[in-house]
Amino acid sequence: MKTINDFDFNEKKALVRVDFNVPQSADLKVTDNTRIQAVKPTIDKILNDGGSVILLTHLGRPKGKFSDEFSMKNIVPEIEEVLGHSVKFCPDCMGEDAENMTSELKSGEILLLENVRFYEEEEKGNVDFAKKLAGYADAYVNDAFGTAHREHASTAVIAQFFPSTKFFGLLMAKELEAIDKVLKSGEKPVLAILGGSKVSSKITIIENMLPAVDHLIIGGGMAFTFVKALGGEVGNSLVEEDKLGLALEILEKAKVMNVNIHLPVDVIMADEFSNEAETKEVDIFDIPEGWMGLDAGTKSRLLFHDVILKCRTILWNGPIGVFEMPNFAAGTISLGESIAEATQLGAFSLVGGGDSVAFVKQFGYDDKVSYVSTGGGAMLESLEGKELPGVKAINH
Ligand code: AMP
Repeated sequence: MKTINDFDFNEKKALVRVDFNVPQSADLKVTDNTRIQAVKPTIDKILNDGGSVILLTHLGRPKGKFSDEFSMKNIVPEIEEVLGHSVKFCPDCMGEDAENMTSELKSGEILLLENVRFYEEEEKGNVDFAKKLAGYADAYVNDAFGTAHREHASTAVIAQFFPSTKFFGLLMAKELEAIDKVLKSGEKPVLAILGGSKVSSKITIIENMLPAVDHLIIGGGMAFTFVKALGGEVGNSLVEEDKLGLALEILEKAKVMNVNIHLPVDVIMADEFSNEAETKEVDIFDIPEGWMGLDAGTKSRLLFHDVILKCRTILWNGPIGVFEMPNFAAGTISLGESIAEATQLGAFSLVGGGDSVAFVKQFGYDDKVSYVSTGGGAMLESLEGKELPGVKAINH
């Protein structure tokens, strides 16, 4: 893997594609600066070498048009605060201003260009647009893991203009190493925990992970399709009727491949999809009509705890209950506790993909696991076994 550590940036200008697509409040203040903090090591290394940094990112979905709402200028104070460094701002990523400001940039300086998605050429992967961006710098650094699954001008197409000076930033390197640990080089036993609502959205991940793991915990809404396929009564729980056959196929495949699949054995069921619903704990194969399973039960939590504690490499994607409702969050909290405990005992744990990342942050487990991925879609596509366009562009 070619990273920025393989290059001396002294007197060089680096165009660094970052993912500063940060959440903002109604008055456009940054409400979570994780993605800015995450690229600080990359920026520091280039500046310490004696280079200069041109930051390029997208923010939101401005659909190829300029708008104040999605302007990067709203983010400048937060970037300066996090980086502890002044940041110049160019109100356009194209045209004379961008050409002048990038050419006048001196060693030790940081310049932020305006939102690259103000041009529709970005998402279309336009080659001429990418070439113009490439003209600003001596080297290209991709540190935008969150956008690495997009084949856009600034995330993938641009790399061809830097045949020998294109590099992964340190965040990208960390993300790719974490995924590699789970899929290829992790210490055994390897465990994947997949939760969330639907089997259909996780099928490719399950299939790609089977050869890599020793244990697979399937929880959350997904579990009911498996339970029903095995002949259980799941009442009004979430089920994908058209995936019952597929669920059996997966269980069969896992058996052949010597993968232990663990489903919940009991659930907290509710008489409606509401935090105020009446609840009872039952065997997951015996959920009566009119009731739906919304969280893992006590026995399931203990079962999952035992599996987690005997594994050395753990991937977690997706909650195992409707954690957004406090009365159905306990199962996912217990899972977070078990993973934290295993991590403390030396296991490597990676949390990635949408809701589980939101969960670990909300409940304070982000410091208790080995690594929390900064990319939702990019992480999921990596787990599906795809080589991300942003990664391929640097590797080839
Ligand atoms: P996903 O986006 O597929 O990872 O799904 C995440 C969502 O799954 C969360 O919003 C959870 O509330 C939901 N979920 C987890 N367990 C259940 C369940 N037993 N029934 C319905 N939804 C669930």
